[in-house]
Amino acid sequence: MKSLDIYGDAGIDSRVVCAVNDAEEKIKDSFLRIDRIAEANQIKVLTAMQQEQVSEACLVETTGYGYNDLGRDTLERVYARVFRTDEALVRSQIVCGTHALYIAAAGNTRPGGQIYSPVGLPYDTFQTVLGLNGANGSLKDYGVGFSYSELNEYGKPDYDRIRKEIPDNVSLIEIQRSRGYSQRDTFTLDEIGELIEYVKKLRPRAKVMVDNCYGEFVELMEPTEVGADMAVGSLIKNPGGGIAPVGGYIAGSEECVENAAARLTAPGLCRELGPSLGNNRPLFMGLFMAPSVTASAEKGAVLLAKVFEGLGFETSPASDSVRSDIIEAVSLKNADNLISFCKGIQKAAPVDSMFAPEPDAMPGYDCDIIMAAGCFTGGSSIELSADGPLREPYSVFYQGGLTYPHAKYGVMRAVQQLLDDGRIIL
Ligand SMILES: *Cc1c(COP(=O)(O)O)cnc(C)c1O
Repeated sequence: MKSLDIYGDAGIDSRVVCAVNDAEEKIKDSFLRIDRIAEANQIKVLTAMQQEQVSEACLVETTGYGYNDLGRDTLERVYARVFRTDEALVRSQIVCGTHALYIAAAGNTRPGGQIYSPVGLPYDTFQTVLGLNGANGSLKDYGVGFSYSELNEYGKPDYDRIRKEIPDNVSLIEIQRSRGYSQRDTFTLDEIGELIEYVKKLRPRAKVMVDNCYGEFVELMEPTEVGADMAVGSLIKNPGGGIAPVGGYIAGSEECVENAAARLTAPGLCRELGPSLGNNRPLFMGLFMAPSVTASAEKGAVLLAKVFEGLGFETSPASDSVRSDIIEAVSLKNADNLISFCKGIQKAAPVDSMFAPEPDAMPGYDCDIIMAAGCFTGGSSIELSADGPLREPYSVFYQGGLTYPHAKYGVMRAVQQLLDDGRIIL
């Protein structure tokens, strides 16, 4: 009987399998480190669920106003334990990360207030929320100002500049942990802790909000354990574990969370309303899966870095760096490479693998963008995905992978596509 050639039948050349397996051999130490963090975070999440006595009754749905939703209220207390905060707001009515950031920022500022980023311009969509692009209803429209300080030449907080530029009347300090789609490094929690200590000394009354998107469970702690008043993120990234169908969270002090809740629903209604619908079960289960899913995605990112370093491309972070999020950027040098890479990732998708991604214009960007994703949950970027703007240095931003074998297959498919299109030699 002929033995099955799973890789060959899937169109993966043996040279690609060898290259990827060789790279994998060399990053065992990183994998062990990632697994240990996942173990600790798994225990952290599990213990929080047990301490809050999650029961089968928490998994049922509520509708309408959603008063006394046991599951929703318990889930929020579980999040608060995991993030070591007083409270948390975890809702499927929060439609994405930007929405969570918006209600956190809007709820915790007042007209005449000032938001300040000590780490450069924030994420594109949050810039729009702030009013930098003239969007209708922005915080600027409501009399909330914004300023920021540039990072230093190494992409790190510029403490001298911060001391000089931090506004006197700052009410909210926003720190974005992940690089997002910029060229700077993601900040580690050590760096974030140091920065928070510094800005809190300068402005003790200002609240600190960390945009925690893509960072959850990558380290042993969360930003709220190093001084942040709130951490904010999306449930279709790390903490939803690929199972939450929608949602966002804000974990923080009682005051911060209550202020955000007054914006999410209505003043006076705050956290009392908001039916969980059928989402308690996937939100609990997603959180339970999140440490391990995040680790799978992170391993995929390290593997991608190692493979592409071997092929002569520049990666960020490098395969041997200590990471604080799940994003990997590879400078692919030209548009053809970027397109081939994304086509390869699309071919690895469980959904929509028959489509080929094409570069196209996107609102808010000054050049075409190509995006590869074939997800069970619309727009989910904890699932295997890759995208990049068609401009120098033609970086692809790769993230996600619900299982490590899938992330690894994604890496193989990307390399295979580059090989098939004659862009690399193996
Ligand atoms: C994903 C992300 C957001 C929020 O984006 P949404 O698409 O609205 O969920 C904000 N900041 C960073 C750094 C992100 O990665």
